[in-house]
Amino acid sequence: MKAKPGPVGRGLVPRRKSAKHPDFTIIRGGRVLDARARRADPADILVTGDTITEIGAPGLKAPAGATVIDARGKLLHAGLVNAHTHAHGNLAKGMGDLWTLELLLTAGPWISGNRSLEDKYLSAKLGAVEMVLKGCTAAYDLPFEWPAPTSEGLEAVGRAYAEVGMRAHVAPMMADRTFFEAIPGLIDVLTPGMRKDVEKLRLAPWKTSVDNMRKALRAWTLDRTQVRLGVAPTIPHHCSDDFIRACVELAKEYELGIHTHVAESKVQAVVGLQRYGKTLTAHLDDLGVLGPRFTVAHGVWLDGDDMKRLGDRGASVAHNPGSNLRLGNGLADMRGMLDRKVNVGVGTDGANCSDNQNVYEAMRLASFVSKGQTPDLERWVTTEEVVLAATEGGARALGFGDKIGRLAPGYKADIVFLDLGHVNWIPFNDPTNQLVHTEDGTGVESVMIGGRMVVEQRRVTTVDVAALARDAEAARARLARVNAPTKEICGRLAAVVGRFCPGLAHTPYHITRYVGT
Ligand SMILES: [Zn+2]
Repeated sequence: MKAKPGPVGRGLVPRRKSAKHPDFTIIRGGRVLDARARRADPADILVTGDTITEIGAPGLKAPAGATVIDARGKLLHAGLVNAHTHAHGNLAKGMGDLWTLELLLTAGPWISGNRSLEDKYLSAKLGAVEMVLKGCTAAYDLPFEWPAPTSEGLEAVGRAYAEVGMRAHVAPMMADRTFFEAIPGLIDVLTPGMRKDVEKLRLAPWKTSVDNMRKALRAWTLDRTQVRLGVAPTIPHHCSDDFIRACVELAKEYELGIHTHVAESKVQAVVGLQRYGKTLTAHLDDLGVLGPRFTVAHGVWLDGDDMKRLGDRGASVAHNPGSNLRLGNGLADMRGMLDRKVNVGVGTDGANCSDNQNVYEAMRLASFVSKGQTPDLERWVTTEEVVLAATEGGARALGFGDKIGRLAPGYKADIVFLDLGHVNWIPFNDPTNQLVHTEDGTGVESVMIGGRMVVEQRRVTTVDVAALARDAEAARARLARVNAPTKEICGRLAAVVGRFCPGLAHTPYHITRYVGT
């Protein structure tokens, strides 16, 4: 991403002394978070182009003519990384309440149906705006298009991120089985009329999805260090084995990330055993999916062996505690994952099931749900581990591990400026604890991404948010109208799913978690 000094704000005032060195920025007097040391000492940060080149004691020498940013009274931390979200979810925030994951999937054609290219762009942009305002500078995004991803749809999502100025790994959700085909026995309990409705939801053959991905990869014009493509065979049992193998091949060929929802709900874990006679993770391992480029979304129902497989292969888990609570899926065992050397990132999940894009909140919940699972302190994750997951862990999952997630020379200048005068920071005790347990995003004053001020004085500088709001409202009203008949159909299907799936969820399923590490 090309570095551009941001427009002049009212608080952090960049003062250009001369036009001699437009590529140098010196950030003076901020307190730079060292999460591991639980310290935030005053330091100056020199940014050259889009990269941090030096961090030193206050008074650090800077080239003449460098833009100076006064960060006194600010806590500076590496931009948060949202390890799991869905662009299409942002136009559907707040549309449901009493939803299990299975009911959310049933509602999908209603809440995400009939999206135009413009809607796809708008929904992604809305999420990106929310994320940057809340201190998040990069996201792993799994957008959905029916019946298959398209080059144009992916470009629309990527362009939204690029325009806001965020980084993203965009991996479209793909499947060749509908939810109704994926759950054994579910079709059998539908009425003939419902079966006809479900027939209309059929997805494209997997070869179409893979061909479209190739087309998108060839046509991609965005800077891949800022917005890159990945693949997401969305849920193992929603994809044929041939499809998953083709995704593995594609990922190898183009060095893509692979992202899959694995054992998110107990229903999924039970169905995995029914279908494959082994866990979903073991099944994916047999298909060659597990490796350093692979990210599991959720992993609530992983057992110790699953975690060991993931850790041994260098894979990641995107931990989304807010979504897991909201959909009643349970509590993921972050300590178990860390013990088995799984790389853990923290995510919000889509706004259709979380219902915000606030990584501070996700961090807080990651800490709390760990502590809520056992009285054994040694099994609790620390705030330091949570911060590292939401920065370095997420960066590694996104495939940007050597570029973002840390404030250090050689890393991109993705920096969040928190206002230490905000009540969240009064008094200032322990910056690591306060970042995870106190900060809720309201203390974010400015956000720099790749040396460019994307948020200044709590305002997004890159896009017209008022126009975005008008466009989003118009889209909402139109989509509500055109999706009304689908909403009715989904409502009828939900009545059946809501009876059938809890039966599966009550199937005894014992997972052994706390075995030798
Ligand atoms: Zn998801």
